[in-house]
Amino acid sequence: MADGGNDVRKAARAVMMRDYDGDHEGALSRAEKLARAHPRSAIALRLAGDLHFAAAIRAGKVIELGGKVGGDAEREASTHLAAARNALSRAKQLVPSCVDIATALGDVFAYSTMFREAEVEYNSALAILLPVDPALHNAAYGLHGRERTTVNARVKEAREKASLAYGRLTKQMIDQGVAAMLEGADEEVSALLQEKPGATAEEIVKAERDVMLELRKKARILAEAFPDSARAQCFHGHMDLKFARLLDASIDKRSVLRRSTLKIADRAAEKFPNSVVVASFRAKLLYILGEYDAAERDCRRALGMKNADDPGDDCVPPGSIGGPNRGARQVSHASEFHELINKIVRAANVYWSSMTEEKRSEFLTVRFDALQEDYNKVDRSSFSVSDVLSFAEKHKSYRFWVCPFCDNHSKKHTDTVSLLSHMCSKHQRAVLPRLQSVLDQKLDCNAFEGNQYSYDRITFSQDSDQHDIVFFKERAEMFKWLFDKPSSGIRTQSLAQIIETKRRTGTIVLENIKEKLKTLATDKFSTEFAEVLPGIQELWIKFVKDSAVDYRGVILAIGRSLLWTKLKKYMSEDPEVGAKRICAADIDEILAIVAYNYGSSAVAEKTEAHMCLHSDEAQKMNENHQESDLDAENRSLGTIVHMKLQDAPTNMDENGNKLDEQLEKLEIDPNSTQPSATPQPSTPNENFHILDRIIDIVM
Ligand SMILES: [Zn+2]
Repeated sequence: MADGGNDVRKAARAVMMRDYDGDHEGALSRAEKLARAHPRSAIALRLAGDLHFAAAIRAGKVIELGGKVGGDAEREASTHLAAARNALSRAKQLVPSCVDIATALGDVFAYSTMFREAEVEYNSALAILLPVDPALHNAAYGLHGRERTTVNARVKEAREKASLAYGRLTKQMIDQGVAAMLEGADEEVSALLQEKPGATAEEIVKAERDVMLELRKKARILAEAFPDSARAQCFHGHMDLKFARLLDASIDKRSVLRRSTLKIADRAAEKFPNSVVVASFRAKLLYILGEYDAAERDCRRALGMKNADDPGDDCVPPGSIGGPNRGARQVSHASEFHELINKIVRAANVYWSSMTEEKRSEFLTVRFDALQEDYNKVDRSSFSVSDVLSFAEKHKSYRFWVCPFCDNHSKKHTDTVSLLSHMCSKHQRAVLPRLQSVLDQKLDCNAFEGNQYSYDRITFSQDSDQHDIVFFKERAEMFKWLFDKPSSGIRTQSLAQIIETKRRTGTIVLENIKEKLKTLATDKFSTEFAEVLPGIQELWIKFVKDSAVDYRGVILAIGRSLLWTKLKKYMSEDPEVGAKRICAADIDEILAIVAYNYGSSAVAEKTEAHMCLHSDEAQKMNENHQESDLDAENRSLGTIVHMKLQDAPTNMDENGNKLDEQLEKLEIDPNSTQPSATPQPSTPNENFHILDRIIDIVM
């Protein structure tokens, strides 16, 4: 098994050090020499394989430059890859029970786009029952000092690496399968139309629909075969939506979208809670269906995700979300949510304008118990809505101040004289007592005059059943006043949060006042005094205004959130909206919302993937592959689906309901509701080949 023993290991390490030092060529030629001198040493072969692979990757970067340099690099890379495959294959023959060597060989196959061979190697790596110590045949172990891990730990690590590599391969193949199917569909439509020059618009749609029906079926099989792939689920959803879009105008798309597409999106959202791509797809769909509140909730949830998946991993088509790194892609993708939320606000504005005065007046009346219920969702302790009325009755005002230097629950001052007196006596370092003597507090009442945020239009009364109610009286730009909020959304804040914000604002203004007061001349009749005082007086008025808590403002904050939800509910439940047919344009409008992109790499990648999957090699593999039981089973499933739907496109035009019924049948197909029995790619199996499955689905 081993040849040369320690001498070879020593020589191999010297070569590695040379490579680390940057002499790649010198290292490679020595590695080759070593492998020739010790043809039965797995260490020497492994080293040669690794260095050839590294050289191929380096050359691969030059290929991107194109031209003659690129062409030369391509040939060079291909030679290195062949040499790496050869060396590692021989190493594997010598040590068939080494997880590490089999994985290394699989990696080279995967890089050479020999996916089937790669899969075989990863499978065999994971199937080794009694693996040898990976350090035995790899000089890299212990290169920088004594190896401190145990054999078990090294084997475990090697297995994890193999498993990760297998997962990557699966993902790569799904991506390429999806890209190839999308590309193939476009070509098929063109081919169908070429047969019919001068086709009518109707015939074009029919051709597209026929192709999409087939694609939707393939997408579904792919999604079922790879339940752990978010991309496969997204692809299924997209194809289902696109198929629904092409349905004849006489067919109720709403019911198809609800019964079929939304279910796909729901399942995907449940399975992939951190996928922003899935969240975005579902939110868009909900928007199309007129479920604005649910759509916005999906958007907000996604925007607030802490550990969001990389949208580059599951977007459809693959490569459609660009960006140099995961963070950039997430930022880029977030634009979809912002745009959708803006759309909801715009739709609400249109709806608002269409409401009659009477309906708006009813809408703007809110019972206290409803407000309380909404408030309790954010805070159960500190505030009862009815306190507002008793407070106003007692103090003849809705306004109060809480000292910024005491705590949130300290005394509510209902006038600024008592507040200033408290601050000057209790917090002399923060509020210099002199302030009291220089300010004219009679001016304080002017602070709220002409206030554009006046709460006078919020009034309280009782309805005919003696329930306390609040009424938000209409004013100019009412919609904007109520709902045009920052992008963080309209959210109820607790009273404690509101007071805290006011206190913090107050502290900053008081700090400024203190600085100014320090420069104020002592002589009240001096010009210096007269120059500085107005500034202090002005800041004080600002303090009075900005740190005041108005109970009506608290009511407004709760009411805004409640009314916003209520408005979306009104829109969704409006019989006119519900009766409106969803047309292709409605779907197109939403599909047009795409992430802001750094540069479209999608087209190039799609083409590359397509070429790869349709290469001669792939064709050959498809022809030669041995059909496993699972393949046969799944192919027959495909046939069932196909038989059920094969006459649909022709019958659809005359009788839309028939297709509807068939769609329903398709959805109650036991395979769509029961968990898939197909083995998942994370648990590899010698009889199950991902590539075969995907080629099966794609072709
Ligand atoms: Zn205080």
